[in-house]
Amino acid sequence: MLGYSRQPVISLRGVCFEYAHGGFSLNVGELTVASGTRAAAIGPSGSGKTTLLNLISGIERPGSGEVSTAGVRVDRLSSAGRRSFRITTIGFVFQEFLLLEYLDVLDNILYPYRLHPELRLDASVRSRARQLASDLGLAELLARRPSELSQGERQRVAIARALVTAPSLILADEPTGNLDPATKQQALDLLFEQCEARSTTLLMVTHDHGLLDQFAQIVDVEALGPAEA
Ligand code: ADP
Ligand code: MG
Repeated sequence: MLGYSRQPVISLRGVCFEYAHGGFSLNVGELTVASGTRAAAIGPSGSGKTTLLNLISGIERPGSGEVSTAGVRVDRLSSAGRRSFRITTIGFVFQEFLLLEYLDVLDNILYPYRLHPELRLDASVRSRARQLASDLGLAELLARRPSELSQGERQRVAIARALVTAPSLILADEPTGNLDPATKQQALDLLFEQCEARSTTLLMVTHDHGLLDQFAQIVDVEALGPAEA
């Protein structure tokens, strides 16, 4: 296993992407993030940070170029293939948490298992979900609904949900944007700790430059540059 530990989990080469109705384009000459790295993506609002995550996860597909994520050429997959890849391989954490009010905390954590038949919800998954909840300080809250939680607790549920499938990569889009400073650092510490314990690669979008010294790699989205001829 060790020999593989520094393989890139994310690799983009010569990527050109444009939204269907034009306007914004994102070009990436070359970007690699090695396995197990804690990386931050930065850039002003509208610079393409979310678009970059969407290319890496296969939500969007480039017009040209290669996108390889966790060893899979996602640019070559069909739309159904990319969806399936995304659900089974990547964990997501968003600023808005995106929890479901009709599900309790435990079922929110287990939500990815409702999305894809390849993910089998068995006893070992349930026990992993409970362990994650306990690691994230949520053990007493499993039967609550999202509206009965604080912002910090909601984000911890979202972190547990991102980790429950044991993904090789976590993509987090401004995950601390809605948290106050103390809660923010607590949520980050838990996210970092959980990623480290599992050698999970993390690519996190943040506006908060005060956090950057906690990352091993900084991806400046404005400096990604066009594909070399
Ligand atoms: P960031 O996350 O850095 O704020 P985004 O990647 O969300 O930036 O957006 C980059 C640019 O692409 C923005 O100008 C935005 O308006 C535009 N954009 C985002 N999503 C779409 C879409 N689905 N269709 C067309 N334009 C989009
Ligand atoms: Mg964004």
